[in-house]
Amino acid sequence: MHVAINTEALIIGAGPIGLFQAFELGLLGVDCHIVEAMDRPGGQCVELYPDKPIYDIPGTAYTTAEDFILQLLKQLKPFGTQIHTGQTVEGLTKNDDGGFVATTSTGKAFAAKQVFLATGAGAFTPVKLRVDGIEQFEDEQIHYHSVEQQKLTGKNVVVVGDNNNAVHCAISACDNANSVVLLHRKRRLGASSENLASLEQLVSNGRMQQIKGKITSYTGSYSLQKISIQENADHIQQHDVDELIVKLGNSPKQSDLNSWGVTTQAKHVPVDTAHYQTDLSGVFAVGDINIYPAKRKLILCGFHEATLAAFSATGNLRPDKPLHLQYTTTSTELQKRLGII
Ligand SMILES: Cc1cc2nc3c(=O)[nH]c(=O)nc-3n(C[C@H](O)[C@H](O)[C@H](O)COP(=O)(O)OP(=O)(O)OC[C@H]3O[C@@H](n4cnc5c(N)ncnc54)[C@H](O)[C@@H]3O)c2cc1C
Repeated sequence: MHVAINTEALIIGAGPIGLFQAFELGLLGVDCHIVEAMDRPGGQCVELYPDKPIYDIPGTAYTTAEDFILQLLKQLKPFGTQIHTGQTVEGLTKNDDGGFVATTSTGKAFAAKQVFLATGAGAFTPVKLRVDGIEQFEDEQIHYHSVEQQKLTGKNVVVVGDNNNAVHCAISACDNANSVVLLHRKRRLGASSENLASLEQLVSNGRMQQIKGKITSYTGSYSLQKISIQENADHIQQHDVDELIVKLGNSPKQSDLNSWGVTTQAKHVPVDTAHYQTDLSGVFAVGDINIYPAKRKLILCGFHEATLAAFSATGNLRPDKPLHLQYTTTSTELQKRLGII
């Protein structure tokens, strides 16, 4: 376990609402960290519908889900909020002093005074390969999260997946690897036209091999050496592999919030509508994870919840300091925090 990172606020989940929660806390001068299970922020917007249009964000007539997340990140930039990606918060305990310790799947710990559950549909975690015994090579040679390009230098790399992420990874690997294979199941790849064009060029130049098939077995006991790829009923071929990058998408898994001391109701967290606080004082729940009368799972509702939760948590953190409403338009204090003046 690492030394705990001290922070006033910890946000669990970097979906649209977790990102806006950090912005609202930043405006109020509260420092925070965000933990996100996926390799990138954006929640359902980037995982489930990146290219789809959204028409009901106030003041934005039209945006794609991916661009919307980019705008949220740009808005958050002045506060330099750290987003710890590729790890899931697995445990949360309340200390006697009223603060919290959260621990993550990669061994990080956070000591936070206030906690925000922005966990939405659940932690998006990578879909794993289903080949008996192959899990022993996880993290060493099998990678479900992002891999440093240096690690691929001179290696035989196989990337598994049909989506844009897989295609993007295979293209990037070509810069450093000895050989690259993109192994996919579907005939049509779900990738951007730009990535498909680069892929076609790399394949025609012989820099990458594209195979439609699935891994059926492997060889190697101390290290992964070869994989068997079944292309059709009659044809199985073996491939050398040093690094296997798996991009089969992510599926959501809700954390065991009850074991954190938070009450749930039908897999959601009841909150009051003045503070958006749970029944565990100091823990707030915002966005799709919460429930209250007339709740609607809409981004704009989550933004309102995050705003009131930020005010409430700031009141808890600074009980002696009056918390006046200020406008970003006219407040020099807020504009300084935003780095505008
Ligand atoms: C196809 C589709 C279209 C939609 N269109 C619209 C629309 O047009 N307008 C609209 O308002 N809404 C729309 N929505 C709904 C909208 O996307 C959700 O309301 C919104 O994403 C909720 O945001 P969130 O931040 O609460 O949760 P999510 O987006 O689910 O994000 C939660 C994040 O928390 C992370 N996480 C969870 N648990 C942990 C943990 N323990 N540790 C670390 N990380 C964790 C997850 O990996 C995830 O990234 C649409 C939804 C779908 C599926």
